[in-house]
Amino acid sequence: MAPMSVRVRYAPSPTGSPHVGNIRDALFKHYFAKHHRGVNILRIEDTDRTRYVPGVEEEIVESLNWLGIEFQEGYGIGGDLGPYRQSERKEQGIYAHWTQVLLDKGAAYKAFDTSEELAEMREFQQINKRPIGYFGGMWRDATPAQVETAEREGKPMVVRLRIPRNETIVIQDAIRGRIEWDSNTVDDPVLIKGDGMPTYHFAAMVDDHLMGITHIMRGEEWISSAPKHAVLFDAFGWERPVFVHCPVINGKDGKKLSKRHGDTRCLDYRSAGYLAQALKNFIVLIGWAPGGDRELMTDEEIVEAFDIPGLQPAPGVFDMEKLRWMNGTYIRQLSVPDLVSAVEAYVGHPETEAYWLRDVADDEGRKKNEATWGALALLRGGITSDREYADRAIALDQERVVTLADFGEATAFFFQEEPPMDEKAVAKWFAVPHAAGLFTELKAWLGGRSSVTVEECEAFLRAFGERLGLEKIGPVVHPTRVALTGKTVGPGLFELMSLLGPERMTRRLDRALAEIAP
Ligand code: GLU
Repeated sequence: MAPMSVRVRYAPSPTGSPHVGNIRDALFKHYFAKHHRGVNILRIEDTDRTRYVPGVEEEIVESLNWLGIEFQEGYGIGGDLGPYRQSERKEQGIYAHWTQVLLDKGAAYKAFDTSEELAEMREFQQINKRPIGYFGGMWRDATPAQVETAEREGKPMVVRLRIPRNETIVIQDAIRGRIEWDSNTVDDPVLIKGDGMPTYHFAAMVDDHLMGITHIMRGEEWISSAPKHAVLFDAFGWERPVFVHCPVINGKDGKKLSKRHGDTRCLDYRSAGYLAQALKNFIVLIGWAPGGDRELMTDEEIVEAFDIPGLQPAPGVFDMEKLRWMNGTYIRQLSVPDLVSAVEAYVGHPETEAYWLRDVADDEGRKKNEATWGALALLRGGITSDREYADRAIALDQERVVTLADFGEATAFFFQEEPPMDEKAVAKWFAVPHAAGLFTELKAWLGGRSSVTVEECEAFLRAFGERLGLEKIGPVVHPTRVALTGKTVGPGLFELMSLLGPERMTRRLDRALAEIAP
């Protein structure tokens, strides 16, 4: 068999912010096309004018760019088969032409039902427990004279596809295999609406053909429309592309993914401090299994492995804890220069602030978010006033964070003149008998120095412990850490001491001494 040259398309409708499900759809096609060295096309499906949301197209493009999802053809990129926006294709008469072809073949027909008539039909079907939908009504078999009269009277008109009756419609789905329908249960879908706009059924399939799409990869929610699409391809006499219906995404509780399970808007993950590469790795595994128990994968490894056999028919599971674990791992894998630029870009991005200060449902949540942003703003200020110091503080916390947002809270004590003191820690560690002596000696040792190295700090504290005859260094380390940072946890003590430097440390030791003996 000749190698198939794969052509797929990501075809978002600009009706709302792109969410995790949309992005998974886009990612699958990105990797599928790359794996087969094929073409991924970006097409904007904006024929539903009532649901069009201004600004969403820009957000789609921004989300795709952020994640590095690539297209070789399409909207904003170009190509020989454009335009790639359906409203423009409509203007060019593309859909009108192909509608006429179907009407001439008798594969489609004009229907002039009023909305009252359609409502009545529906009610009748409901009462009589019949399949709901338009199975012909008055117009499927109307005479040319009846149609002409209706047109002359200017009745509202749609064009519908004539689904064959008393047949079995079969599609071959690449993930699920053979699926069949009794054609008597498949209603005649509208192809062209009353306003002259094509529906998804018509525009997407016509474009898929004209753009040479080899695989219609899309969400499972489209399976029930697939028989209509198969009939449409057959009616034109066009070869059907391969249908690939990808599994739905559920939360860990088995329910359909929603706000409850975490952010749904793609760019909110950026604002919450997730790395694009981590999110990509996480999302591509929802409904796709690379084989073995591989989870952390480089982009090259995903490209190499991504193909239809790994796609699962069972729902994919969205597990926030797994995303957090992956993100932390990716953060630790960054080189220090890359880490520092990621954090700098993050705290400087206007959407970061907007995200944390956005309304949350309860007071508790609002306070928490405000605190998170407060710490990030402190870091942002630190970067502006002393970049080298801030960058080193960021590097020291690389091992301890899960998201970029965690760097705010983690580095705050470096920038606060008087970091808040954890009361329990003070009660415990400032009460040890040697605390005052330790702080006083440390201060004296620092006096007159302009800097101290990590090794010098370690040597000093170890020597102090030995002089006291302590077996372990803990009772020296903990009080010092609380005096300098206000907390019992944080980056390595000797490293943070060296970074804080003698001046800041001296001021903090004075404060600790005042706390012990006011
Ligand atoms: N415009 C459709 C949507 O956004 C595309 C579905 C498909 O990929 O065919 O749901």
